[in-house]
Amino acid sequence: MNTIIEPFKIKVVEPIYFNTKEQRLQRIKEAHYNAFLLKSKDVLIDLLTDSGTSAMSSNQWAGIMQGDESYAGSPSFFRFESAVQDITGMSVVIPTHQGRAAEKILFSITGGPGKVFISNTLFDTTRANIEYSGAIGIDLVCEEGKYPHIPAPFKGNMDVVALRKIIAEHGAKNLAMVIMTVTNNSGGGQPVSMQNIREVKQVCVEHNILFFIDACRFAENAYFIKIREEEFKDKSIQEIANEMFSYADGCTMSAKKDAFANIGGFLALRTNDLAQACRNLLVITEGFPTYGGLAGRDLEAIAIGLYEVMEESYLYYRITSMEYLTKKLVEAGVPVMLPAGGHAVYLDAKEFLLHIPSHEYPGQALVCALYAEGGVRGVEIGSFMFGKYDDHGKLIPAPLELVRLAIPRRVYTQSHIDYVAEVVIHVFKNRQSIKGLQIIEEELLLRHFTAKLDLID
Ligand SMILES: *Cc1c(COP(=O)(O)O)cnc(C)c1O
Repeated sequence: MNTIIEPFKIKVVEPIYFNTKEQRLQRIKEAHYNAFLLKSKDVLIDLLTDSGTSAMSSNQWAGIMQGDESYAGSPSFFRFESAVQDITGMSVVIPTHQGRAAEKILFSITGGPGKVFISNTLFDTTRANIEYSGAIGIDLVCEEGKYPHIPAPFKGNMDVVALRKIIAEHGAKNLAMVIMTVTNNSGGGQPVSMQNIREVKQVCVEHNILFFIDACRFAENAYFIKIREEEFKDKSIQEIANEMFSYADGCTMSAKKDAFANIGGFLALRTNDLAQACRNLLVITEGFPTYGGLAGRDLEAIAIGLYEVMEESYLYYRITSMEYLTKKLVEAGVPVMLPAGGHAVYLDAKEFLLHIPSHEYPGQALVCALYAEGGVRGVEIGSFMFGKYDDHGKLIPAPLELVRLAIPRRVYTQSHIDYVAEVVIHVFKNRQSIKGLQIIEEELLLRHFTAKLDLID
């Protein structure tokens, strides 16, 4: 049997609204060619992000009703705490309103001027929080991870040789920590192998450097380990997750990803060393330690979601769905990142739009074209998101120009995905008509959220 059956039945539905191409051309112009500035009602299939967009299960909704909203000592917190401890093996569990709040707290304490953070690839909010503290972030993804079209099983791995080199250059004492992002979101949702986690941990131990995991997609990463790393083929997802976390001193997590929650996150720590300082900041920025930035009901939904996400029938459906969309696009000649990532399909905008140079933001131009053509909203991960300027104000382009089509968890069915494939293929066939963009207004940090652009004629 080849059909991928969604491992759920639908109990509640939400309408989506249809509009015409003319209307969409008008909407994207009004949004200054920045898809973040569109109204979601004007989007047909929203693949902007898989963050906070999951459909919760009937069990999670039941948990919402059970949420206890006591200010201190709520049973919902203890259920949440015990789920996080069970999966991560870490004793200190600090709830935050989302992942970046955990980052902000952690980096305020461990970062600052002169400090260096090393990662396979830092996610945008992670990098922003590091830089905001005055520290710098360095990405050291492995060589395979730099070539979008060459498939390899673990393109999210960190380059361990480069890691040793950078530590020697900066001096171990200046290293705040090494952060492994699983799966590597900004690097194409590509997984990190257990082997690589072990090797990086070994280097951290040798140099006495903290090792943290950015755990947003821990279950997707664990599933990839199970199917691609021989040693783990008979292990359960939870056993694999347990081992991944066993090497880390702590982790940050956005529950908006692999916990099927619409909001939430946490910081977990293995020892009490940083706990007091983190909790102090938590109380002044998020809330009391037994709710952090969350309502009791959210803590319940997360506690339940963290287990649901590790169900193999779900992970099979999830990963196979990405492969299904990728295969359709590849067959039509569309340049995509290979192999398929865990939460998204990434179009290679540089190859897709050979006639648009980096400084005219090919990824952003493609995002606008997909929206105008079919109401499909993706996000640029390239020079618009990560580009910097040199001293002369000239753009230093990002290494890759990607468009991410992130698939919300348990939200769309196979026919939605078939439609997305049709839209991408249609845009690909007519790609010569797509024009580049210029930025006319931008902020210093995370400019892609708010910047305004215009077509270059
Ligand atoms: C989403 C994400 C974050 C930030 O989490 P938020 O809940 O959006 O604040 C950090 N790291 C990675 C890898 C992410 O995907």
